[in-house]
This record gives sequence, C-alpha cells and structure tokens, in this order.
Amino acid sequence: MIRSFLCKSLLNLIFPLRCIACEESLSTAMILCKECLSHLVLLQPSSHCPRCFGPKTFHECKRNGLTRQAFCFEYSPIIEKFKVLELSKILASYLLVQLQQLQSPIDFITTVPEHPLRRFTAPFLQDNFFADHLATELSLPRREFLRAVSDEEFTPRSSYEFTGEQLLIVGFRPKSNTRRAIQVLKNQGPCKVLGLYITN
Ligand SMILES: [Zn+2]
Ligand SMILES: [Zn+2]
Repeated sequence: MIRSFLCKSLLNLIFPLRCIACEESLSTAMILCKECLSHLVLLQPSSHCPRCFGPKTFHECKRNGLTRQAFCFEYSPIIEKFKVLELSKILASYLLVQLQQLQSPIDFITTVPEHPLRRFTAPFLQDNFFADHLATELSLPRREFLRAVSDEEFTPRSSYEFTGEQLLIVGFRPKSNTRRAIQVLKNQGPCKVLGLYITN
C-alpha cells in the first residue's frame, strides 16, 4: 500500500499528469494534452506565401520590413500558453525545421531586444532562449546589435558596420516594433533581415 503510494508519488513527480501548457489533467504519461498537441502542426510552404508566410490565397504581403519571414504554427490563444521554459526546447526544434523555408544563408542570429524594464522583470525571456538554442545548434554567431531604450526606440550597441550580412531575427511572435528595429539596423550599413517565429 505504502509502496504503491510512493510509486505513484514518484511517477507524479516525473510525469506530473497535467499538461505543461494548459494544466489539463492527463491520463497517460505525456507532457501535452491532445488539444495542445493539435496546435503543433507545422505550417506547410505549399499553402503559404514564400515571403510573408501568409496564406497563399488572397493576402496582403505584410513583412514588417523583413526580406522574408516564416512561422511554425497558426496562432491560437492556446499557443500563448507555450511561453514556458519546459516547452521552449520543443518549440526551438520546430524553429530549426522551419528555418529551411527562408531559403537563405544566415550570418548572425539575433532578436528584437526587450524593453529594458521587461528584461529585468520577465521570469524568462523566451526569444533569447530560442536565439541561443538556434545559434548553438547551427554553430552560428549569436549577437545583439541593438539596445531598446523605450518601447519604440532602439540604439546600436556598437559601431559595427554591415556590408551585406544576412541577419535572422528569432522570436515567439513578430513584435510591433520590429519595423523600427530593422530601420535602425539598416542605418548601420547594407544588410538583409529575415524573421523566424513560432506563430504569426
Ligand atoms: Zn494542454
Ligand atoms: Zn506574402
């Protein structure tokens, strides 16, 4: 009796029997429930625009100043719950797969930096996690070229001058200030900026 109780407690510790995204209880030793898993269906290039990754049928090609961008999954409120450390490694592996849709060599992995206040208050900066993971897996240099001085304004971190480099911005979702960040990057010389995100 005690033994089976201990066994169960130990199992619960290893497999908490709750979905790590939505906390729905699970009947089997999995980490995501069926509903959450159903949102991890990789978007296919055949049905998406090669530049903005919008649906190939009628769409406005919105790229936020990026040369090309790609997404892994369709947006849903459930996807927002995936912003946790335990899921980030899984999500990062999807980013690695979807990178091929950009069809471009990459010189640097970077992010649109967070507002300075958020850098200190956020429990976990997922975009940085993705950027570090991709840089390690792809053996590419990971570099921050910008510093956020407010929600909309960025300054260069160094006097680095671009001469045609290809930069890859990675993140969970495109940020509203991405266009502005790209303008500041392009003031540092000619460069191409691509975007790779978990969702749109
Ligand atoms: Zn779930
Ligand atoms: Zn498009």
